[in-house]
Amino acid sequence: MNIILLGSPGAGKGTQATALEEATGMKHIASGDMFRTAVKEGTPLGKLAQSFLDKGELVPDDVVIGMVLERISQPDCAAGVIFDGFPRTPEQASALQEALQKHNDCISAVLLLTVPKEVLIQRVIGRWTCRNCQAVYNTYYLAPQTEGVCDHCGGDLYQRSDDNLETINHRLDVYNAQTMPLVDHYRGLGILHEIDGLGDVDEVTARMVQAISLANPC
Ligand code: AMP
Repeated sequence: MNIILLGSPGAGKGTQATALEEATGMKHIASGDMFRTAVKEGTPLGKLAQSFLDKGELVPDDVVIGMVLERISQPDCAAGVIFDGFPRTPEQASALQEALQKHNDCISAVLLLTVPKEVLIQRVIGRWTCRNCQAVYNTYYLAPQTEGVCDHCGGDLYQRSDDNLETINHRLDVYNAQTMPLVDHYRGLGILHEIDGLGDVDEVTARMVQAISLANPC
């Protein structure tokens, strides 16, 4: 089974995908994480992607599609994938569907995480992530015990370069213009589940697990 997580920046896709990976054994594939790793490592892909990430713009479809399709062809994705941040445009959705069909595979469920705009903004501008174990904190409601230090592993916390007020407003506009059409597309296919993204992480995960249990395998 493969599933897609849809939702605005700050909706909780990354947090929930990590929890679902643990709960289901499916592989969490996050296109944004792949780009951030490439930027950090200074690879040609990272150099190409950096300016798009910094401005909150989408990386061109052909680049993203090539990167993700190559990644899901790896053996560790054979048990099913949780897509986080991909697809983000109708072109990406078509390319994914075509690639899966070639292997008699499909998307079983699309989970749309919904969160009010003021909460999204607070989640994004307050977000700090551990460089070492990727644990996520928030200065407004989940602050670490010592500023800048991870409670779990003592690693440094960093703020993403695109998690500032100016860029988040643009990222929300980009989401509404380019990614929202996918909601209707997947609703039309009868596989869209709207999930209330407010509440404790565990509560939201339980809602998602319940939705997945109703989905048909391919
Ligand atoms: P995210 O971590 O999902 O918020 O993604 C961070 C940034 O990576 C986005 O603002 C885009 O610049 C880029 N990105 C991630 N996924 C995609 C995608 N599917 N299509 C285009 N750009 C993407």
